[in-house]
Amino acid sequence: MHHPETWMQVTPEGLFCVPGGFHVDPARPVARAVITHGHSDHARPDHHRVLATPETLAIMRARMGEGRAGRVQQALAPGETVNHNGVTIRLVPAGHVLGSAQVVLEWKGSRVVVSGDYKRRPDPTCLPFEPVPCDAFVTEATFALPVFRHPPAAAEIARLLESVRLFPDRAHLVGVYALGKCQRVIRLLREAGWDRPIYLHGALVALSALYEQLGMPLGELRPVPVPEKRGGGGLLAGEIVLAPSGAEATPWVRRLAEPVVCAASGWMRVRQRAKAKGVELPLIISDHADWPELLQTAAEVQAPEIWVTHGREDALCHALAARGVRGRALHLLGRGEEDEGPEAELPGALQPQPAEAEAQRAGQPVERPDTQAQPRAGGANRQAAPE
Ligand SMILES: [Zn+2]
Ligand SMILES: [Zn+2]
Repeated sequence: MHHPETWMQVTPEGLFCVPGGFHVDPARPVARAVITHGHSDHARPDHHRVLATPETLAIMRARMGEGRAGRVQQALAPGETVNHNGVTIRLVPAGHVLGSAQVVLEWKGSRVVVSGDYKRRPDPTCLPFEPVPCDAFVTEATFALPVFRHPPAAAEIARLLESVRLFPDRAHLVGVYALGKCQRVIRLLREAGWDRPIYLHGALVALSALYEQLGMPLGELRPVPVPEKRGGGGLLAGEIVLAPSGAEATPWVRRLAEPVVCAASGWMRVRQRAKAKGVELPLIISDHADWPELLQTAAEVQAPEIWVTHGREDALCHALAARGVRGRALHLLGRGEEDEGPEAELPGALQPQPAEAEAQRAGQPVERPDTQAQPRAGGANRQAAPE
């Protein structure tokens, strides 16, 4: 058997399958790319050939424009296989966002799974993650610290609805990222019985419409109205408004009635982070695996080695070593820029502060959650908006 390292290599563009002659989620334009999902830190514009699920291709076209989403686009449905230069390629659901897939590669009896981003919790907007036994498993490690244990998403949505009930004179503004989190929060609200219109910031409208086109009903969505007179506000008391995180710090927010600022992110576990961002009601809803999910997945794929693309690789590799698994940090650059982080694709006013953006470009952690993280104290509505 060929050791995975002999045929899957790290190049400046990212992970490269040598016999297949293609990259997986390359950071720069390449001749042949296999793309796990549509977040901008995985799906970059201007590749010559792109292989991905039909949903991911549709998301790429919507975000980049037809001309930049790959000159030649090849759709591969989950479960189907193609053979390229003797390498078998299969896409298997990753449970992260609509269309997200793990890339399962086999060459001469050796199997490598590149998982992209994934989670193990149920998500009404995408197919669930399927573990595939392999010789090397490639994983991210965004929340790879024991403090990160995401509560059930439904419980977080219940906290939001309780706050809406307690503060009917205020608008609830929930910070989400545009691809995946937005639509998942909408579906979770619908499942919890919220059947009122949900109001969307303009930056969230196009992808939500695409989800609906791709067969994911979201109920009635409305754009946030423009106040009738200049400087007018006080709109949408008692309603739920979704916006990219950061919108609460722009003049746009003045139109809302005393907004309760909420944010839906795995980072909301870190209380200082919520506080620094002015979040009154942090909702711990993540599209990434938490610590138990990472370890569960490592056990289920039965891989003797696990390659970590980015995140808290030190903690994960240490825990894997204790389980007899070889962990290897790949240090891929440019990951984590979009999901569960300040959005990468926002209009200028909503961009992260230059220093934060710079640190992310350089692949540096923006903060060290291990020194800051504090488990949430109990009390379902402890962090609901104060009067
Ligand atoms: Zn992602
Ligand atoms: Zn990512």
